[in-house]
Amino acid sequence: MELLKQKIREVGVILSDEVIKLDAILNHAVDPALTTAMGREFARLYRDENVTKILTIESSGIPIAFAAAQELNVPLVFARRKKSLNTETETYCERVPSFTKGIVTDIMVSKEFLDEKDRVVLIDDFIANGDAARGLIRIIRRSGAVLLGLGIAVEKSFQAGGRTIRESGVRVESLVKIASLAGGEIRFE
Ligand code: 5GP
Repeated sequence: MELLKQKIREVGVILSDEVIKLDAILNHAVDPALTTAMGREFARLYRDENVTKILTIESSGIPIAFAAAQELNVPLVFARRKKSLNTETETYCERVPSFTKGIVTDIMVSKEFLDEKDRVVLIDDFIANGDAARGLIRIIRRSGAVLLGLGIAVEKSFQAGGRTIRESGVRVESLVKIASLAGGEIRFE
């Protein structure tokens, strides 16, 4: 997606050979026009798949997932990172390592919002090692819902997440792929 590449070149701050900060458009502020365009693109990719639900994880996935859900006219569900008042029997819970924070977090989705009648697209801001996505995929599988595929804004293709999930047979659509951040330079695939 050319518009997203342009924005990343404009606002991206490279923190290391592995991490790029995109606070201005994804992780701290939202560009509504760009977010709407991203949602439209995810919707175009999955338009023929009879999607019933968009799933993401709080918090940075929510605006782009909302834009996709709006475009497809289906509900959005976001996995939560903190414990809620629900009990284990009412929720699907998974433990995932957090790439940016270097800790593990528990993510959960209430059984009320995901079940075997659903056909789900999983949307997130970044994919790095794929741990967050794999945790959400386990939740979708446990619910009995059909996983149609992933929609990722930024895939860092020098890290293994996108590739390994594709190799497991899951459709992964990324709006842009960053092949390298080495030497302080963004190289797109
Ligand atoms: P993974 O679980 O695939 O290793 O990491 C995915 C999560 O880590 C994303 O949801 C995102 O929040 C965060 N993340 C991974 N890499 C980056 C990065 O380069 N920049 C930012 N801002 N977040 C990242």
